[in-house]
Amino acid sequence: MRLDVTAVMDTGHYTYQFVAGNLALDFVNTVAYRADPGKKIDHLQCAAEVRQWASEAQLPDRAAIHSCPLMGTAALRRIRAVREQLFAVFHAIAIDDPIPADTLAQVGNALHDCCAKRCLALQGADVRWTWRPAARCTDYLLHPVLVAATDLLTSDAHGLVRQCEDAGCGWLFLDRSNARKRRWCSMADCGNRNKARQYYRREAGLL
Ligand SMILES: [Zn+2]
Repeated sequence: MRLDVTAVMDTGHYTYQFVAGNLALDFVNTVAYRADPGKKIDHLQCAAEVRQWASEAQLPDRAAIHSCPLMGTAALRRIRAVREQLFAVFHAIAIDDPIPADTLAQVGNALHDCCAKRCLALQGADVRWTWRPAARCTDYLLHPVLVAATDLLTSDAHGLVRQCEDAGCGWLFLDRSNARKRRWCSMADCGNRNKARQYYRREAGLL
């Protein structure tokens, strides 16, 4: 996914994209140009970016994530570590490689750790999931992401995970198109850019 650098500079923040069709894949896609080491940008580098992503992703506990007093280096490291584990698993699926079993186990353990901090509680006459006092903002953030990831992994839809065909993009998405021929993370971005490139190469007699 290409960044609109002008817009980033004008507004002071990045606009996250939610084009993958799955929250866990959108979370993985918070790294732009993942497949191009020279242009790769991690958009979850600080607490403000994590909070912004949580808001734009409309996570159930986004208000609690915003009011978390501390989101330090260890929290950010945990968030990014889980993101990279998810990338390793879903990227393997997208390119038809074997899923790394040890990384898959780490994903399961991460969800288990989050779930261990949840409990059932009564709100009036209703029963709701809530968080134990030990829960932290990383749990609020990672729980819905990991539920989305594991629901996808354990469903037939995991076979629809694809990687954008742009050479540098590296974003992942679910191909739910009727013909199962979705090639780009976003037609408006990687799709149009590559089609324009192909057009000019054809015009120049390079194809
Ligand atoms: Zn792309």
